[in-house]
Formats: sequence, structure tokens, C-alpha cells
Amino acid sequence: MSQPQSHSRPLPDDGNVRPITRWGTPVMHRELADVTSFDDDLAELVRDMVATMRAARGVGLAANQVGVDLKVFVFDCPDDDNIQVSGVVCNPVLFVPEGKDRNLEDEDEGCLSLPGAFTPCARPDEARVTGFDEHGEPLEFFGTGLLARCLQHETDHLFGTVFGDRLPERARKKLYKQHKELAENYPDDWPVTILVDDVVIDRS
Ligand SMILES: [Zn+2]
Repeated sequence: MSQPQSHSRPLPDDGNVRPITRWGTPVMHRELADVTSFDDDLAELVRDMVATMRAARGVGLAANQVGVDLKVFVFDCPDDDNIQVSGVVCNPVLFVPEGKDRNLEDEDEGCLSLPGAFTPCARPDEARVTGFDEHGEPLEFFGTGLLARCLQHETDHLFGTVFGDRLPERARKKLYKQHKELAENYPDDWPVTILVDDVVIDRS
């Protein structure tokens, strides 16, 4: 696979934090609608998604993770060289290496919609995504390392796949158990409300 340079794009920083939707909610498990209007509503959604991702200390967030049925994700994530890349992708098309170019990496993965739980998940170590920014301009991102994993994980979300769907049953059960043990740390409206050392910080 060729390695075009990914140009990090600045993210907006004046959004409102929204509660994060959990696995099991129907919008997490079906393909979302294509973005067709690159309008003010989309810009507001993107601002809120960035604020929510940052409040939750995530590296990426898909629209269905704030309950919205639109194919858009935001990310801010380091690649294999520890270069931080950020951007907004609408209507993504994902490309991963096939055949002899395909190398799987079995690194830890987690999801803000199943907070507190991590387990190794095998994925190709490179990924490329094409799509559009929130203004409708075409763009492309290439990622290695955690960024490759993030681009795949977020695109998966927009097609209704959570990373638990990609795990063997035993690993998936372990993941749910881990989440359950830590669930009380994550109130229903997390990360609007964040519990840190039993101190409630209300960010709404
Ligand atoms: Zn996720």
C-alpha cells in the first residue's frame, strides 16, 4: 500500500459534551445514514463530538456514540511514529492491506461505549480512509499503529460493528466482565458527569 502523507486537520474546540451511547443501544448496531447536508447542524454535531471525545479522553468518536444516525467520526490519535493526527471524516471508505502486505497487530483495544474495558483485538497495522470533511471537501488519512486501529474502529462504528463483534467469544465475555466490574465509575450520562476519586465533576 502506498503511504500518502496524512495532514492533521485542526478540530473545533467550542462544543458541548454529550452523554455517550453504550453498546446494546440499537443505533450502535446498524449501518448509519450517509451525510448529505454539510450544514450548520453537522458543524454543531462535530463540535459536540470533539468536546465529548476529549472529556472522555478518547482518541476517536463516531456519531452513533452520541446517538446520532449519521456517518461521521472525529479523531485525535498518535500514529506509530507518535505523530498526533486529528480530523473529521464523513462517509468514510476504508482500505486495509490484503494478501502479503497484510500484517495483523494484536494490540489492546477499548471503546468509549463500553468504558473501562480493554482487550487485544487483531487488526491490520495500516489503514487508509477517504471521505469528506464537515464542509464537504474530499480528504484522505493514512494511519499506522494506534491511528490505523482508530480509523478502522471508528469506520466500523458507522457500519454498526463494535470491536466486540470482532473478538472470539471467550475474549468478548471477559471484556463484558471487566466493564461490569468498573461500570459504577461511569454514570449513565458519562462523560457529562465524570467521577474521579469519588468526586463528582459536573461538566454539563
Ligand atoms: Zn468505539
